[in-house]
Amino acid sequence: MDPAEVCDLYIESDRTGMTVSTLKRSFVDNLHYIQGKDATFATAYDYFMALAYTVRDRLLHRRIKTAQTYFEEDTKVVYYLSAEFLIGRLLINNLINVGLYEQTQKALGEFGLDLAELMEHEPEPGLGNGGLGRLAACFLDSLATLEIPAVGYGIRYEFGIFEQIITNGWQHEVPDNWLRFGNPWEIARPDYNVEVKFGGHTEAYTDPQGHYRVRWIAGTTVYGTPYDTPIAGYDNNTVNTLRLWSARAAQDFNLQVFNAGDYTQAVSNKTFSENISKVLYPNDNTLQGKELRLQQQYFFVACSLQDIIRLYLRKHKTFDAFPEKTAIQLNDTHPSIGVAELMRLLVDDYFLTWEKAWDITQRTFAYTNHTLLSEALERWSVDLFGRLLPRHLEIIYEINYRFLNEIRLRYPGNHARLARMSLIEEGGHKQIRMAHLACVGSHTVNGVAELHTELIKQELMRDFYEMYPNKFQNKTNGVTPRRWVLLSNPQLSGLITKTLGSDRWVKHLDDLRGLEAHADRPEFRAEWQQIKQANKERLADYIWQNNQIEVDPYSLFDVQIKRIHEYKRQHLMVLHIITLYEQIKANPSIDIQPRTFIFGGKAAPGYFMAKMVIKLINAVGDMVNHDSDVNGRLKVVFLNNYSVSLGEISYPAADLSEQISTAGKEASGTGNMKFALNGAITIGTLDGANVEIREEAGPENFFLFGLTAQEVMSLKAEGYNPMDYYNSNLMLKKVIDSLISDYFCPRDPGLFAPIVDSLLYGDPYMLFADYQSYVDCQKQAAEAFRDKDRWTKMAILNVARMGKFSSDRTISQYCQDIWGVEPVPVSLEACRPSLAGSQPLVNKR
Ligand SMILES: *Cc1c(COP(=O)(O)O)cnc(C)c1O
Repeated sequence: MDPAEVCDLYIESDRTGMTVSTLKRSFVDNLHYIQGKDATFATAYDYFMALAYTVRDRLLHRRIKTAQTYFEEDTKVVYYLSAEFLIGRLLINNLINVGLYEQTQKALGEFGLDLAELMEHEPEPGLGNGGLGRLAACFLDSLATLEIPAVGYGIRYEFGIFEQIITNGWQHEVPDNWLRFGNPWEIARPDYNVEVKFGGHTEAYTDPQGHYRVRWIAGTTVYGTPYDTPIAGYDNNTVNTLRLWSARAAQDFNLQVFNAGDYTQAVSNKTFSENISKVLYPNDNTLQGKELRLQQQYFFVACSLQDIIRLYLRKHKTFDAFPEKTAIQLNDTHPSIGVAELMRLLVDDYFLTWEKAWDITQRTFAYTNHTLLSEALERWSVDLFGRLLPRHLEIIYEINYRFLNEIRLRYPGNHARLARMSLIEEGGHKQIRMAHLACVGSHTVNGVAELHTELIKQELMRDFYEMYPNKFQNKTNGVTPRRWVLLSNPQLSGLITKTLGSDRWVKHLDDLRGLEAHADRPEFRAEWQQIKQANKERLADYIWQNNQIEVDPYSLFDVQIKRIHEYKRQHLMVLHIITLYEQIKANPSIDIQPRTFIFGGKAAPGYFMAKMVIKLINAVGDMVNHDSDVNGRLKVVFLNNYSVSLGEISYPAADLSEQISTAGKEASGTGNMKFALNGAITIGTLDGANVEIREEAGPENFFLFGLTAQEVMSLKAEGYNPMDYYNSNLMLKKVIDSLISDYFCPRDPGLFAPIVDSLLYGDPYMLFADYQSYVDCQKQAAEAFRDKDRWTKMAILNVARMGKFSSDRTISQYCQDIWGVEPVPVSLEACRPSLAGSQPLVNKR
């Protein structure tokens, strides 16, 4: 077939049209021919599917042109490798990005259907735990919006992050069978299947030219099938791809075993292979060290590297230009085995010399560090690793041997440094330090906020920084304003566009600065307040529907939504709630700012303390919400199943954003940015990106409390004793004693002892050290809230000054400073190169 002729034909079809009438026609076609229904039998889900396919048609048209453009221009491509992509629902995002939202609303309206209602029928792909996975999703949106050739590579988990239900105050996990009803966005590409090997042994041999070579004789082979999801840029023609790998058994029947008569053994081998992409590990910022997890990591990295090399070799005969055409970003150490895998491919399969292969590898990879928490740093047991990936273990030893020689040359006789920097942690149980592998195999290592990068350089990887100071960079995280403002807060978006006289801010978030000039205008403030009020009422309705708790939408909405983790200190917020409660109990007529405390977040299923914290929040809520002395002035709500969709209605409804991690523990945070962009004011420590948010917003528009990272380290070094705070702070003592007395769990004595004991006899996250400072700061926040005009002005100035936290800024910096890539605009105009620049064949926006 002649591609140009094919293009002429599909461009004439209704499936690319952007008008109300072509949308209606496509919708009915898809309902009919894909769902196989008509209006008599169609369910809301059928309507959702028909609409999703209608949108997908328009995306695929752009996707094909995008792929052609990248191929013809042989552009450098960014490959973003991430074990998680928490992309959120796609229907509304795609409608907005491709510019179909209004016409679609109209088209459906003419059928008597409600777009907002259909959207609720889309299951959310929960292929991530929290911030790290959501960051990858924001990056995909920005890459496409900035017209950067890019592919996201990850795993198509059959089960995403579990669904959280709360019964009797406790978290329970329900499997997330998100593909149950099919997924209209993805396209399977079995023609690009690849093979991945596991286990077995290696053999050395001499090739006909007399070179020493190694071959890997694997134990088992698994297939990876790619599934592609189109990722549309905002207001352009770029559609990139998220390519997720699904594991398939290499042979449906292992013939030898089958012939030996063991049918069930043969079939169960198939299950074994297909288990690899079965389920997302539900741990955030902690390690589980399970064999299946290492299999997952190697599986998707091996699939992706084969795919990357296949794409490269379409235009190239040698690997000489590989680093000029390929940038591979490692999102944390999860894909860091890629360093050893690329070496294996280049040396064993393509017969490059070690030196040449190493040069290519180092110039191709870059690594993003996401955590300083030692419990989250990936280490794999050498035994386990060698059993699963014997050739990679040899390669890692060779990398390490050469690396240690380099250190010996630079720092003669410094054995302590050798031991600290080695890729292998010696001792009883030898382990591979994946962060060290990622660092030596990459040309650049970056942190995700200024403070975090400084701590990497000065603490976590100090030795590496001393040796390679130019390898380290900062790239402060950001969030996409498309999902986190335009989509989640349409009313505020409308006000911003009206006020600035343009919607340019959606792609150039620094334009928000223009709002500063309006911060003192009473009419503008009034509209602002009205929108915040409407968003609070939307959340109050949701709370009523889901929790059957009536909250006062005029109270201060004090919100902490994020994964439940001790370092994030949800329990510090609980200590403040109990503090206010004690004040009311001591003096019921006290004049106190009414507040609604809103929590949301999942605990890793095996994280005992985090699950206790959820129970504590619910127990305190039960007591406070029903106490007649409180009389509705304080309400505590735990929103179950926090997710991207729930975030979309929570961030815009917040007055106060709780960002209260122990300083030095949160690498960046991105929830903090979403809140501030939606007009919430932060109460926070000097941790992660809070530091930069405060810098941008101005210290007068930020509620700061607590120890600094330096103070946390010094206090720990000189000996921190939480008991001293308990004994000397009367209110703190009263609060802790209320927990000890089982006041909040009268029918379950001793229930909260694990939390109390952890605080009194160690307090690793220093809640007690920050308690008084937090309570005082909360008091200031309450006072500020009572002055409506002052609060509104603070909120406006926060939004006006958050331009820095667009992921477009972050991605531009990665492009310039790390990847060396430039935008490649895509034109939908001519099908034939000779016609380029002539009459557009489809309506452009
Ligand atoms: C933004 C986001 C996070 C990250 O929140 P932090 O407050 O930065 O920890 C986690 N989960 C979801 C669903 C998010 O949207």
